[in-house]
Amino acid sequence: MIAVDPSATKDYVTFLLTQEEPRPPITWRNWWSEVYWERLVVMIIMPLCTFVAAYYTPLYANTAIWTMVYYVVSGLSITAGYHRLWAHRSYNATRTLEFCLAVLSAGAFQGSIIWWVRGHRAHHRYTDTDLDPYNARRGFLWSHIGWIFIKPRRAHGKVDISDLKRNDIVIWQLRYYPWLVLAMAIALPSLVAGVGWGDWKGGCVYAGFIKVVIIQHTTSFVNSLAHWLGDTPFDDRITAREHFFTALLTLGEGYHNFHHEFPMDYRNAIKWYQYDPTKWLIWLCSKVGLASHLKTFPENEINKGLLTMELKRLRKKQDELVWPQDHLPVVDWKSCKCSRSQSFPLLCIGGFIHDLEGFMDEHPGGEALLRKYIGKDASAAFLGGVYNHSNAAHNLLAMKRVGVLRGGVPHVTEEKHIPPSQLLRVAHVQELSNQEAY
Ligand SMILES: [Zn+2]
Ligand SMILES: [Zn+2]
Repeated sequence: MIAVDPSATKDYVTFLLTQEEPRPPITWRNWWSEVYWERLVVMIIMPLCTFVAAYYTPLYANTAIWTMVYYVVSGLSITAGYHRLWAHRSYNATRTLEFCLAVLSAGAFQGSIIWWVRGHRAHHRYTDTDLDPYNARRGFLWSHIGWIFIKPRRAHGKVDISDLKRNDIVIWQLRYYPWLVLAMAIALPSLVAGVGWGDWKGGCVYAGFIKVVIIQHTTSFVNSLAHWLGDTPFDDRITAREHFFTALLTLGEGYHNFHHEFPMDYRNAIKWYQYDPTKWLIWLCSKVGLASHLKTFPENEINKGLLTMELKRLRKKQDELVWPQDHLPVVDWKSCKCSRSQSFPLLCIGGFIHDLEGFMDEHPGGEALLRKYIGKDASAAFLGGVYNHSNAAHNLLAMKRVGVLRGGVPHVTEEKHIPPSQLLRVAHVQELSNQEAY
């Protein structure tokens, strides 16, 4: 073990990774001991058996509708309960709502609240690193399903779940979780379809097992697809992305870039037209007194996130363009003319010497007018004395600078010397703190 002082390291995750030896690589000789077999059965064997059973089980309309309704109920108990309530504490729930969510979520069969939240908090705390249990940088399959039944090479990063350990409903759910799963994932859906319209088998296969398989994968899409498909409007340094399709599959969890930036916000979608039924449910619960203290990040800070990415895109665009020279020689008029042929068309505007060779007959105002100012200071004429030139003319003129006139005094305010395209230039902080370099 290497002793390193965490306060002396720049990267805490790197420090943590040095504290523990990784598990050995998976090979043909050891793979069987590197698998969580019980989870493999749940995630692979059970779905295969389920689809075989579905092949031999007719699907009646009532059962299909019940399956969809129960899928939404179980799914929302995961997104509004496991995720936004217990993992992120994005709102307060009454004990009634908390109890309902704890019970209903067992129908999705995704592990206890404590197990689920511990992994999810590590995902947010150590996003995209080896301490993130579903590290998206390890590939789509790993983040989708591989992490569940293949033992990680590194233990998950540590997170604080002391709030959950003090929550008696969470502890109760952990204690009775296997029974709750049997009751809510299998027994209840069978009972409703059996008593309701006599389809016990269909209720068990479709509203029970098929629903569990679908929810397991739609939830996993938040870890895989939401880190792979879409845009990064708030921060492009993380893999979390936003896409309507992911939101559609995950009951509104598809605006994942926003969620990683503002994880304690009860919303995933901030625009009214974006699809986030989990947000709508929480809002509805708050209106009927089941939820309160819905957390939202200040609009001002959210807009700063959007602006940051817009500036980044503009900076990239800016870097693709060619700009006027930064470092020009300081010369006097005479030596400048002497260093070139006498016939060179040089003129001074705003203290800069410009070489208009090749431009004389392209001047929209005519060559004759331009020729009158060759060898002279044309600042006043250029800046409105003769014609108040366009942004394009200012930008083009700046590209023709060949020197700074020694002792040349600008005739106009400083702002007018800067071409319009550079007035709102996007600058890195290093450029601002080291002006000399730019
Ligand atoms: Zn994520
Ligand atoms: Zn989250």
